[in-house]
Amino acid sequence: MSSIITKSRLEARLQAEVERRRQAFLEALLALDAPLTAELHRLPPDEWADYPPLAAYPQLQPQLKSLKQADAALCQWQLGLYGLCSDCEAELTTEQLWDDPCRQRCDPCEEKYRKAQHGAWEL
Ligand SMILES: [Zn+2]
Repeated sequence: MSSIITKSRLEARLQAEVERRRQAFLEALLALDAPLTAELHRLPPDEWADYPPLAAYPQLQPQLKSLKQADAALCQWQLGLYGLCSDCEAELTTEQLWDDPCRQRCDPCEEKYRKAQHGAWEL
């Protein structure tokens, strides 16, 4: 990998990651519910994650979450807000974004978010 990560390379990587997550999601859904998968194909991909019938499949929730993250990152790119932490607006580094193009938070905010998600108060 070159040490120079340009904006266009980052965009290509983001697009590829979004596409990868969408495909993985469709494959997982296809194994569970083929008619529903066909229905989703008729919707714009950024509406998939909020499609109500998907609530019937709790096992897909981690993938739906990952899909939402991907949509959010794509939307941020379109708004020119890509690469900013969604909590404190700190700029993420190019390396962080390269590692995870759909990343939404800086390290400290990510840690706080995870703790809040797990309702963990352990010391
Ligand atoms: Zn932050």
